[in-house]
Amino acid sequence: MSTAFPAATIIGYPRIGPHRELKRAVESYWAGESTAAQLEDTTRRLRLNSYGHLAALGLGESTSAIPASFSLYDQVLDTAATFGVVPDRFRDLYDDDGRLGLDAYFTLARGDAGRQPLEMTKWFDTNYHYLVPEIGPGTRFTLANNWILRNVEEAAEQGFTVRPTIIGPVTFLLLSKAADEAPAGFDPFSRLDDLLPLYVQFLEQLAEAGAQWVQLEEPALVADQAVPTAELADAVERAYRLLAAAKERPAVLVTTQYGSLGGLLPILGSTGIDALHLDLVKGGLPPAADLAALGDTTLIAGVVDGHNIWKADLARAATTLSTLTASVSRVSVATSTSLQHVPHSVEDEPQLNRELRTWLAFADQKVEEVVTLSRLVDHSPAGTIDAAIAEASAVLAARAATEGVIRSEVRARVGSLTPSDFTRVPYPERSAAQETALQLPVLPTTTIGSFPQTAEVRSARARFLRGDLTAEQYTSLMQEEISRVVALQEDLGFDVLVHGEPERNDMVQYFAENLDGFDVTVNGWVQSYGSRCTRPSILWGDVSRPDAITVRWAEYAQSLTEKPVKGMLTGPVTILAWSFVRDDQPLGETANQVALALRDEVSDLERAGIRVIQVDEPALRELLPLRKSLQPDYLTWSVASFRLATAGATPATQIHTHLCYSEFGAIIDAIDGLDADVTSIEAARSRMEVVHDLQGQQFARGVGPGVYDIHSPRIPGEDEVVELVEKAVRHVPARQLWVNPDCGLKTRGYTETTESLRNLVNAAIRVRAQL
Ligand code: GLN
Ligand code: ZN
Repeated sequence: MSTAFPAATIIGYPRIGPHRELKRAVESYWAGESTAAQLEDTTRRLRLNSYGHLAALGLGESTSAIPASFSLYDQVLDTAATFGVVPDRFRDLYDDDGRLGLDAYFTLARGDAGRQPLEMTKWFDTNYHYLVPEIGPGTRFTLANNWILRNVEEAAEQGFTVRPTIIGPVTFLLLSKAADEAPAGFDPFSRLDDLLPLYVQFLEQLAEAGAQWVQLEEPALVADQAVPTAELADAVERAYRLLAAAKERPAVLVTTQYGSLGGLLPILGSTGIDALHLDLVKGGLPPAADLAALGDTTLIAGVVDGHNIWKADLARAATTLSTLTASVSRVSVATSTSLQHVPHSVEDEPQLNRELRTWLAFADQKVEEVVTLSRLVDHSPAGTIDAAIAEASAVLAARAATEGVIRSEVRARVGSLTPSDFTRVPYPERSAAQETALQLPVLPTTTIGSFPQTAEVRSARARFLRGDLTAEQYTSLMQEEISRVVALQEDLGFDVLVHGEPERNDMVQYFAENLDGFDVTVNGWVQSYGSRCTRPSILWGDVSRPDAITVRWAEYAQSLTEKPVKGMLTGPVTILAWSFVRDDQPLGETANQVALALRDEVSDLERAGIRVIQVDEPALRELLPLRKSLQPDYLTWSVASFRLATAGATPATQIHTHLCYSEFGAIIDAIDGLDADVTSIEAARSRMEVVHDLQGQQFARGVGPGVYDIHSPRIPGEDEVVELVEKAVRHVPARQLWVNPDCGLKTRGYTETTESLRNLVNAAIRVRAQL
């Protein structure tokens, strides 16, 4: 139990494999193209390779510095499986020994013919998504899955002493939701005392399996929670005193990524746990008095940013470490967060601009930074990392001085903005002008932008990229696709058309490729959820728009029809949220630069005859700070950047926005503040429940609650859509309502899309006739 914690560690490592091996392995298993044994074999190799790799990078084989952070799908689901937390509708997934096996696990994640999977939701302020456990008063906690144990044993057989990781009890319950059968007002958090004994048993099993350290993850403690602070503090204290008092257990490390523990630091720090990890990048340095409460609990200092891709400022990290070592008896060095949010290695990006490459640190490079810094706490002779510090400082200085990082014309334009640049004329005036210009029926129909991306479209893009198609050939293929999409919408009877976005690989990367100040990677994948990965672009310099981006496609689509075609842009906040962003200036400043580029695009679209323009902001909520005290500032700059992007439009141009979710709660005022003429949101999955939130809001402009759940291949019947629209009409004045799907159709096939859209338009026509 008194094993010293290693001087260097990371909180978690990418699980997808250097070339997305995990994705391919699980997807082929799901498709029935490989066996469970083959899947196990591939993932075993992935795990062991990454241990070997991390050991070689300097974490060592036998010190528990390597986290066993692998997951087949999601770490919250792993924790739910470990403790047998399964909703009633899935009770039959247990095998005869009361165990949850591989197929049970995937069924919870993905559902099956008759059953909804666990809900998926955003993991703190990241673009990773986890599965939400469902807990009721009767949920029976049992040790139902032993993969975490098995991974410890598997590693030991190959000579690695790894550190198993699991979500801690407090965070696990805070992230869970009440099961369907639970009585109103039931809070899963009330089950803490029932769950803790299972954690104790689990720790005993881990000790038996040879684990010297275990990592319990408690990121929920850095976010403001609905549970009152005093109650939360009490629960944290009770939980960890109990776990620390377990007789047979590994040493316990509690990790707290994504922010500051605030007042919980001294409480958690004095429960008798053996080590506490703090995110010092997001959370900042805690007060010395709080640190003093750690006593001989080792402080794991998260000084290397695990959530972004820039090389660390080693000088600054060294200063932080020396402050810490002055007030805490034992300090180790770590990343601020799991490295699951960054790609594997800069080595895999040989094509990147040479200079940019020297500024970057992906997962492997961050491991090296941690190892370097650990020499400062490892009782090595002082000063041994001076050379590394000098080198890192030189990189930062070179980066700051590189052309394009600061562009005076961009700075001057942002500097000269005045309040009027952020404001359109009042809505009633706009709405009158738009009515005249657009002549739309009541309950107008539209889609969210993308149409199914067919194999032909994707192959045309790939061939063009490889140089196998000329620009002319590519353009004419895209135009053919656009004319098909326009004809289809005319045929179905839509009121506001789209061009279908066939030319876009991704709604953010497409803009990144066409703006100055960005670069894109070829292998920079990070896990978004399950087997899905995204490839964030890199925003490294001042942003400007060398040329119009979307205009030629929109203009072409508009030339094919009398109906208005909706121009389609991605908003500034979403562009930032789904890219790796520069860390050398406040995000709000970067957002305004992106907004100005989009503002120019808006006016070019107008000039090309586009009368409706949608600016998507599905990520507005994602960047919302976890602490309430930090939210107003974020909402101020994010809303302002959207307004800056759109307020140059003339009153007669109708500005739409789209958000992918419907839990507005915290941000309803911000959404209203966007001042968009029309806002489309997700609503079909929750059967239009969102209208209750919209009712009575000051939200007086257009709103399109989705009536077709595009996340599933299921075709909604016409009657079903009629019901949803009727429900909406009962709560929101019909003249404000739009009829549209939940989101873009990119991932759907044409067969189900066409039929669903036909039902959607016909339903709108039917309800219209009843008004
Ligand atoms: N316009 C985008 C599309 O339809 C919006 C996607 C999104 O909201 N994520 O694909
Ligand atoms: Zn969406």
